[in-house]
Amino acid sequence: MPGFEWMGAEEKAEINQVLDQGFIFRYNFDGVRNNVWKAREMESMLCDRMQTKHAHLVSSGTSALCTALTAMGVGAGDEVIVPTFTFVASVEAVVSLGAIPVFADVDDTLCLSAASIEQKITPRTKAINVVHMCGSMADMDAILAVAKKHKLLVLEDACQAIGGSYKGKPLGSIGDAGCFSFDSVKTITCGEGGGIITNNETIYKNAHMYSDHGHDHIGNDRGAEGHPIMGLNYRISDMNAAMGVAQLRKLDDMIEVQRRNKALLKDALAQFSEISFRRIPDPAGDQAGFLSFMLPTEARTIEINQKLKEAGVDGCFYWYVNNWHYIKNWPQIQNMTGAAKLPIHLNAHIPDYTQLDTTASDAIMSRTISMLIKLSWTEADIQQRIEKLKQVFTGV
Ligand SMILES: *Cc1c(COP(=O)(O)O)cnc(C)c1O
Repeated sequence: MPGFEWMGAEEKAEINQVLDQGFIFRYNFDGVRNNVWKAREMESMLCDRMQTKHAHLVSSGTSALCTALTAMGVGAGDEVIVPTFTFVASVEAVVSLGAIPVFADVDDTLCLSAASIEQKITPRTKAINVVHMCGSMADMDAILAVAKKHKLLVLEDACQAIGGSYKGKPLGSIGDAGCFSFDSVKTITCGEGGGIITNNETIYKNAHMYSDHGHDHIGNDRGAEGHPIMGLNYRISDMNAAMGVAQLRKLDDMIEVQRRNKALLKDALAQFSEISFRRIPDPAGDQAGFLSFMLPTEARTIEINQKLKEAGVDGCFYWYVNNWHYIKNWPQIQNMTGAAKLPIHLNAHIPDYTQLDTTASDAIMSRTISMLIKLSWTEADIQQRIEKLKQVFTGV
C-alpha cells in the first residue's frame, strides 16, 4: 500500500515548482504565486478520478473525518456508528465533535456488518462511519439499505482504500461524503494530508469553510471574506499538495502492481485448505493494498502469526493483538480518556465502553491476519515469499 515506495523525480518536480514559482499558502497571494495552485490542482484531479462534483483537501485523514462529519451536520449528542476494527481516528473524530461513537461489529468483510448496524440504531443515531479497511470495501448495498430505511447519513472512510471501487463507483463517492488520508504510509502520500469528496454542495461548502476558520472563500481578498460559521485550521499547504499531485497521477499504476502482487500470493495461499479469505463484496474493485486471510481457530492463528515472524515474512499484521486497529486494545477509548474533560461526559446517554459485547467481531478478528502488499517487490522477492509461506503452512 505505501506510496512512499514510489517517490522520486515527479514529486521533486512538483515541490520545486512551488519553491521556485509558487507560494506555500493554499489560498490567495495571487500576486506572488505565478498561478501555481497545487491544492486546487489536486482537488480537481480528485474530482475527475473519483467522479464527484467536489473535493477538498485538508491537513490529515483525521481532520478530513472531523471536517466531513461536521459538514454533514453531525454534532453534539448525535450518535455515530463506528466499527470495532478500524483506526482510532474513526472514534477520535466523532468524540472531538461532541458526538457519541456507538460500536457495531465487523463481519467477514472486515468492515461494518449491516445487521449489526441495525441493532445499534437508537432515536439519536445520525450517521454511519463506514470504514473500508485494508484495501477492500464494505458491503455497501446492505449498509445503504439500512441507512435509507432509518434516514441516516453515510460517511465513507476510504483512507485505506483509495482507488478501490464498488460496483463501478469509486470508494468514497458512494455515501454522503468520503474521506482519504495522504499520511506517510498510505497508498498515496502528501507527507501529511487528507481529502474529502462529496456530490453535495452544502457539505462541500461547510467543509471548506470549517477547515479554514469559517472563511467563505468568496472573492480574492482574504481580509474581506465573510465567516458564516466558526471553524478551525485544518488547511493543507501547497507544498504537501504538490507531492500529492505527483502521487495521485501514479495511483492507477500502483493499484495495478498491487493487484498483480496480491494475486500471486493469494493463489499460493489458496492451496492450503485451512485458509479462507476475507469476503470482498465486489472483487473487481479491490485496490489490493493488503491480502487478508483467516485460519480456522484463534490458537492456529497465533501459531501461524509466530511462524510468519520466525520465517521473516514481514508486513503481516495480527490486528486482534496489535494495538493499532482493534477496540479490544484501546483502553483510552474504553475509558474515554482525554487530556481534559470531554464533551461526551456531559451527555446522559453514553454507552459503557468498558462493557462492549464484541463477540461477533472477536470471532472474525481473532482468526485474521493481513499481509501488506508492497510495490517494490521483484518477481524473485515474491517467489521467495511464496516459498516461505509454503514452509510456514506445511511445517516443513
Ligand atoms: C490513516 C487513517 C486515518 C487517519 O489518517 P491520518 O492522515 O493519519 O490522520 C483514518 N482512518 C483510517 C481508516 C486510516 O487508516
